[in-house]
Amino acid sequence: MVRTEKLVKRFGSNVVLNGVDFSVGRGQAVVVIGPSGSGKTTLLRCLNHLERIDDGRIYIDGQLVGYREEKGRLVEDSEANIARMRSQIGFVFQRFNLFAHKTALENIIEAPIYVLRQPKGEVIERARMLLDKVGLANKEDSYPHRLSGGQQQRVAIARALAMNPKLMLFDEATSALDPELVGEVLKVMRQLAEEGMTMVVVTHEMGFARDVADHVVFMDQAQIVEQGPPEQIFGECRNERTRNFLSRVL
Ligand code: ATP
Repeated sequence: MVRTEKLVKRFGSNVVLNGVDFSVGRGQAVVVIGPSGSGKTTLLRCLNHLERIDDGRIYIDGQLVGYREEKGRLVEDSEANIARMRSQIGFVFQRFNLFAHKTALENIIEAPIYVLRQPKGEVIERARMLLDKVGLANKEDSYPHRLSGGQQQRVAIARALAMNPKLMLFDEATSALDPELVGEVLKVMRQLAEEGMTMVVVTHEMGFARDVADHVVFMDQAQIVEQGPPEQIFGECRNERTRNFLSRVL
């Protein structure tokens, strides 16, 4: 469903993704791990064209992301096409980015009503169902400042799901949370994976990677160094860099 080919991303002279071939099958939960600065966040941001790539290709459902081919050359796609593509991809950030002046429910219904132009009644019904799903049925009228970090992040997940995305990207969704709030967010993410949501999760939570991932990707220094099922990566991974990294974080 997601495929990158020889993806290259630079910031100035800093090569942050150096020929990355990455793929995610439909219904798979892929967890990306690796040391700070290895390019994990940048990879996620490239997948929905929040970053322009310097070389290579990204396909989602066989469609080129962010660009179209004209006479053998890549030309950046129109704003409208990029917006349409992004509306099908949920992105959950480390910081929840909820609208501060809107309630939990209002945060969730905003985009389906104003971007997808769906009927308000149906959107509200679905938003309530999603709040229930993330364990916040009784918080629909709460403003973000009245919610804990974990609750805000669960609203952010519900907000992303309200767009009915075909792919969910999680960028260190629990890193900004107090330790006691991490579990409630991971539980929601685990449930989504079990339901067959296609997802790419960048995380430092190795327990989640081991238990939930269908496939684990280890990145270091702008490249995918090793990838495979969690049993391989956390079991007898053969790569020395993977072993070193895991020995430091486990
Ligand atoms: P972490 O686990 O610390 O979040 P990461 O593996 O997600 O790290 P990235 O955030 O993708 O790594 O960053 C990879 C490299 O790209 C780093 O050297 C970082 O400083 C650099 N970088 C990221 N974003 C930018 C930017 N907007 N401008 C310049 N350099 C950037």
